[in-house]
Amino acid sequence: MINELFLTLCLSTSLPCADISVRTYEFNKREQKEAMAYMTKSGKMGVLLDDSTLRYSENKIKGLLVHELAHMVVWHTRPYDGDHGHKYTVICRKLALEAGVSPNNCKPMI
Ligand SMILES: [Zn+2]
Repeated sequence: MINELFLTLCLSTSLPCADISVRTYEFNKREQKEAMAYMTKSGKMGVLLDDSTLRYSENKIKGLLVHELAHMVVWHTRPYDGDHGHKYTVICRKLALEAGVSPNNCKPMI
């Protein structure tokens, strides 16, 4: 379900969606991290969602995916830029609007 959801959201971007892996992961509970996007040295991108998010509503998962997707769209032109600045916010809000989720998902998570 997560992969289909991600693909649907990703297709509105210019990212190589089929090459982006989305999977669940057990984050350290103390970090309270729910999701994380990453990019390897070779430029391969992916998203990790904490196991606990499997219990979330589809809308909440969509919000997390939109947040991480926006980071990856920024990385396409500015690799490893992980901030939530203006460029990120503009992209994320557009994706949130298209996905029908709250723009609050574009704020830093922790
Ligand atoms: Zn973020």
